[in-house]
Amino acid sequence: MRSWPSVYLPPSDNSTAHPLLCLTDSYSNKKEEFTDFPVASYVCGITPYDATHLGHAATYLTFDLIHRFLIASGRTLHYTQNITDIDEPLLERAKRDDQNWEDLATSQIELFREDMTELRVLPPNSYLGVVESMSTVINYIKALIDTGKTYDLQGDIYLDLRAIQGALEELPISINEAIDIFAERGGDPGRAGKRHPLDTLIWSAERPGEPSWESPFGNGRPGWHIECVAIALQTLTAQSWSDKESSTSISLQGGGSDLRFPHHYMTSVQARAITKKAFAKIYLHTGMIAWQGEKMSKSLGNLVFVSKLREEGWSGNEIRFALINRDYRADLNWEMRTLEESRANLHRINSALSREEVAPTHNVVLKIRDSLSNDLNVQGAIASVLDWCNQTELGAKGGNAGELSRVLDLYLGIAL
Ligand code: ZN
Repeated sequence: MRSWPSVYLPPSDNSTAHPLLCLTDSYSNKKEEFTDFPVASYVCGITPYDATHLGHAATYLTFDLIHRFLIASGRTLHYTQNITDIDEPLLERAKRDDQNWEDLATSQIELFREDMTELRVLPPNSYLGVVESMSTVINYIKALIDTGKTYDLQGDIYLDLRAIQGALEELPISINEAIDIFAERGGDPGRAGKRHPLDTLIWSAERPGEPSWESPFGNGRPGWHIECVAIALQTLTAQSWSDKESSTSISLQGGGSDLRFPHHYMTSVQARAITKKAFAKIYLHTGMIAWQGEKMSKSLGNLVFVSKLREEGWSGNEIRFALINRDYRADLNWEMRTLEESRANLHRINSALSREEVAPTHNVVLKIRDSLSNDLNVQGAIASVLDWCNQTELGAKGGNAGELSRVLDLYLGIAL
């Protein structure tokens, strides 16, 4: 799949030692130093049946900040993002609107590309749809079947969690909670004939009127989790640059907090069954964006779209600034005031940078890097920039505006 255009990154000044990035793993809640080299990062992509809302944008911006920091610190980054371009919600929406499902997906992927370009998000090295990756996905399903830990239920193939050591014992939540959430997020815990309610579908037999693909295990289409397993392992571990000695298959798996369970948990279980090693070193999940107190979601119909804000005259820079200036793990209640403040702050920073004399910049640069290295403390980084504005406005001198401007662009993606 064509990605979106690459973004210019100013050179990094590593004349002083660059701090290591520390991030808090979403499952263990432990802060981990990010030492992988090269970095293999996988962020779950969109299901293209609706435009990019602020919740999506906030997630991709968080991982963009991580990627920028790693590149600035001299790491080689390999970044993969998928597109779930065949899925129930997409087929349902297409049917509801009497539209071809492929045309709907194509139009929404294009809108997503435009939004990501406008928000100056670094594009993935591999941007892959499930449909175009079908032979890869089928190969990995075959590998999972070859482990002997799957079973057939009326042509559908399930992973037998009881046959996989740790799969049911290491759930991040209680079993009852897991079953409830599994049902809410596309699972089928109540289906008769399953060996365990949480067993995940890895291949769904052909249904009348739905698209299907040929495979050695009959016509049908893949389950959700195995698609990400296949695309991640294929693009990030089966390559010449991959670190085959690493104790995990990839460095980072990320997405919104609604992917913590079951999607990312089940992805890790399936990948581990195939590769015999842990999937990701760090799992990271971003908080949900709420609008007027309710989580922004398609089912509630309360989405705020990036494209709509752009039409209303808000710039990519302003939307970006508003969405990154937060604790990425916490849920955020979105208000239009957030955008207005972001516009005012950007205007203030721009005015300070445009002065002939500016306050010393070296320390603020170090503070930005240190704040970001500490679990992506963007609010701390921005507070130090506003403090620098204050000093500049009070007449302090001796700084280099170009130095700070480059750092804001490189690390925060804010180009002024
Ligand atoms: Zn995924």
